[in-house]
Amino acid sequence: MNDIEIAQAVSTILSKFTKATPDTAPAAAPATSDAARVESLDDIVAKALAQQTSGRAASASSLVTNVGNGAFETMDEAISAAVLAQVQYRHCSMQDRTSFINGVRDVFLQEEVLCAISRMAVDETGMGNYEDKLIKNRVAALKTPGLEDLATRAITGDGGLTLIEYSAFGVIGSITPTTNPTETIINNSISMLAAGNTVVFSPHPRSRKVSLYTVELINTKLAQLGAPANMVVTVTKPSIDNTNAMINDPRINMLVATGGPAIVKTVMSSGKKAIGAGAGNPPAVVDETADIEKAARDIIKGCSFDNNLPCVAEKEVIVVNQVADYLIHCMKKSGAYLLCDKKLIQQLQTLVLNEKGTGPNTGFVGKDARYILQQLGITVGDDIKVILIETERTHPFVVHELMMPVLPVVRVDNVDEAIELAVKVEHGNRHTAIMHSTNVEKLTKMARLIQTTIFVKNGPSYAGIGVGGEGHATFTIAGPTGEGLTSARAFARHRRCVMVEALNIR
Ligand code: NAD
Repeated sequence: MNDIEIAQAVSTILSKFTKATPDTAPAAAPATSDAARVESLDDIVAKALAQQTSGRAASASSLVTNVGNGAFETMDEAISAAVLAQVQYRHCSMQDRTSFINGVRDVFLQEEVLCAISRMAVDETGMGNYEDKLIKNRVAALKTPGLEDLATRAITGDGGLTLIEYSAFGVIGSITPTTNPTETIINNSISMLAAGNTVVFSPHPRSRKVSLYTVELINTKLAQLGAPANMVVTVTKPSIDNTNAMINDPRINMLVATGGPAIVKTVMSSGKKAIGAGAGNPPAVVDETADIEKAARDIIKGCSFDNNLPCVAEKEVIVVNQVADYLIHCMKKSGAYLLCDKKLIQQLQTLVLNEKGTGPNTGFVGKDARYILQQLGITVGDDIKVILIETERTHPFVVHELMMPVLPVVRVDNVDEAIELAVKVEHGNRHTAIMHSTNVEKLTKMARLIQTTIFVKNGPSYAGIGVGGEGHATFTIAGPTGEGLTSARAFARHRRCVMVEALNIR
């Protein structure tokens, strides 16, 4: 048997042992349970080895033939494949890992692939805009950190040498959103593989086709590079049932949810190590010391980016009265349409909110401003990117995360009031906030009070995820669980390796 065959046999045994023992243990024979368990382990080993050498397929090993696709009929099969891939991946060198990750980057940096997945995502989900999806996919491939993110720490002294290394969690179950379907798969795959994990993706059913295609592209490239098969897998029919099956499967070592509050809560209550990247409602505060013309341009660019789908995108503007008129004037010059008619505002509200008025009508999420205005009988040109509405602070457009380029503007008397309101409408999501100001004291005050994971000063919100601003890119911003802008190290365990009274050369 070669290394891979041994790994397959071990994986088969482990999956049977962890999964099958409770079901197969005879309920009425507790006294012999230890012996039975030892016997059944021997049986399993013998059977797996026999199946391996005779070429008859054990459940996991048979899946190795499914190279280049990565999509499985059932969640159980997908997880079995990823478990086996995980055992095999442990045999790969750091150089192999680097080559696999660079391979994934290369796939998505090909212009024709970028164009294809960006177009598919818009067509399938009916959300967002093609040009911005190109930017998001490119940045995910280019600026997601790789192995360099996993710096080993060393402690030396009279007691010897201790290393603290980042090590794989194992098999990660990653739940991905409909708003950034491909970006999240590219970004998570690079980060999770860099940390030595294999991944089972459970995408949003409404982005099924493009998610499966993205997984397939990754598998094809990894196969070309000689990687173990099925390091990145998914299911052919993503569904909530499949997501729940993944969450509850004991072979999944870590869960990562990028999505709304329900799924974040679910993974955090799973009893497993979980990373939750949840909803935001980013306020943009503008005070009287800001460069108003630039603030207006930045807000329109950030708010309209991918039709406001990014969770970091500006969702409401809070402006100091003294500069409010000029800000609105400048925003109009930068591509905003100011909707003033009370009746039309009421109509818009009925249209874009759900029946209870507690969130967006999904039919309007990620639509462009022109389309939304058309539904009100207003025709505008392509230059209109955002619909502005002046409103009061308790309006549902201010309070709820809409994810469409409908931008409420609230006037306040002074910057302290603006900061107070921003903190309130961010709802403690710990996600993103933006401030346009040159007053360092007030910038500091807002950052301290709002406690968001991302705080962008004097720029568009997307600068916070590596589009324009400094720093790496991520599409999984873990506010609730605190990992922040995730990268490889967020998906790794810290392990200590101690050499006693030696190898200290100081
Ligand atoms: P969503 O919550 O509807 O879906 C996200 C994923 O969770 C999907 O795969 C979906 O199938 C699954 N899901 C949702 N509810 C579930 C349940 N009860 N049981 C099992 N699975 C469930 O979100 P969406 O519309 O796809 O994405 C938009 C939301 O995600 C917004 O709230 C946005 O702010 C947030 N988001 C956050 C980040 C971040 O990094 N923090 C990134 C992108 C999106």
